[in-house]
Amino acid sequence: MTANKRALITGITGQDGSYLADFLLQKEYEVFGLVRRSSTINFSRIEHIQDRVTLISGDMLDEMSLVQALSQCQPQEVYNLAAQSFVPASWAQPVFTGEATALGVTRILNAIRTVNPAIRFYQASSSEMFGKVREVPQTEQTPFYPRSPYGVAKVYGHWITVNYRESYGLHASSGILFNHESPRRGLEFVTRKVTHAVAQIKLGMANEVRLGNLDSHRDWGYAPDYVRAMWLMLQQDKPDDYVVSTGETHAVQELCEVAFEYVGLNWRDYVKQDPRFMRPADVDLLVGNPAKVHAKLGWEPEVTFKELVQIMVDADLKLLRDGKKAR
Ligand code: NDP
Ligand code: GDP
Repeated sequence: MTANKRALITGITGQDGSYLADFLLQKEYEVFGLVRRSSTINFSRIEHIQDRVTLISGDMLDEMSLVQALSQCQPQEVYNLAAQSFVPASWAQPVFTGEATALGVTRILNAIRTVNPAIRFYQASSSEMFGKVREVPQTEQTPFYPRSPYGVAKVYGHWITVNYRESYGLHASSGILFNHESPRRGLEFVTRKVTHAVAQIKLGMANEVRLGNLDSHRDWGYAPDYVRAMWLMLQQDKPDDYVVSTGETHAVQELCEVAFEYVGLNWRDYVKQDPRFMRPADVDLLVGNPAKVHAKLGWEPEVTFKELVQIMVDADLKLLRDGKKAR
């Protein structure tokens, strides 16, 4: 009998980390997750699998902790999903964002070189790197023009991954993922903020939702579809970079229309614009060209934009009806 593959996920407590853990467990991997110490533990997204994964203490700011984590679990694959991932927080904490989201990538790559250079590595790059877009739609060749400290940090993480691949021959791939959402998305991101508010309003628990830029366009997909693309990248003989997106773009206003309409309400009666949620510099239009990931990995998204919004509204309605706090 061959031993099961082992994978280490940094950011396992986040949206993508939790779905990737579900996915790898289904594939019979032995799953390890890096978790940082906090004064209150929040493992709500991995509660359902906590007895099936092994959590290892560590932090992207502490290289020795990453070396120790890799030495302990000896994985064949590392998925680097840990980051300060919320764009507005990156203006409030630009240096921390650089430490975790940019330099953290170098630290884990160094740890891989130290412990076992044969480990396959996935870096969670982002469409935010395209920022003020140089072409529409965006491909793997589109030049980057980040518009936030988060976007700048992700550009660093992307290029250090490419550089370590070219400098040291590591099997290091970078997935340039466009926005992907789910019922496990953080409440501060616009999709979840809207679907949670729609559920509250429908149940009489709130009467408005305050948003920023309604004209902004995003290429929104479903997170469980996107973790499949991450895994596919590490199963290839050669490492590479891939745009992962649906190829469709929708305005924040359209998100509101679809979400409110689904529960029989008119968004105009409840959505208020609030300058507090406008950004110093925004990314107005993102739409990816997924031709390469289709052709080379055979990857296709399975959930449409409308289905995604409906899944999220249904989940938030259930959460509130069950009297549970949003996670
Ligand atoms: P989340 O914000 O939900 O999760 C981030 C994870 O990183 C959490 O587990 C968090 O731990 C962990 N983390 C943050 N700082 C550190 C640190 N210093 N040391 C160790 N762990 C840390 O993000 P998503 O799951 O949505 O995204 C996953 C990755 O993909 C991120 O890198 C994100 O930037 C990137 N990405 C996401 C996209 C999206 O649309 N979701 C699009 C493109 C890229 P804790 O629970 O302790 O806070
Ligand atoms: P991002 O693409 O990673 O920044 O994902 P977000 O979900 O945070 O934001 C997507 C877009 O929605 C951005 O262009 C925001 O300016 C816009 N937006 C409009 N109102 C809001 C809001 O209230 N909260 C957030 N997070 N974004 C908003």
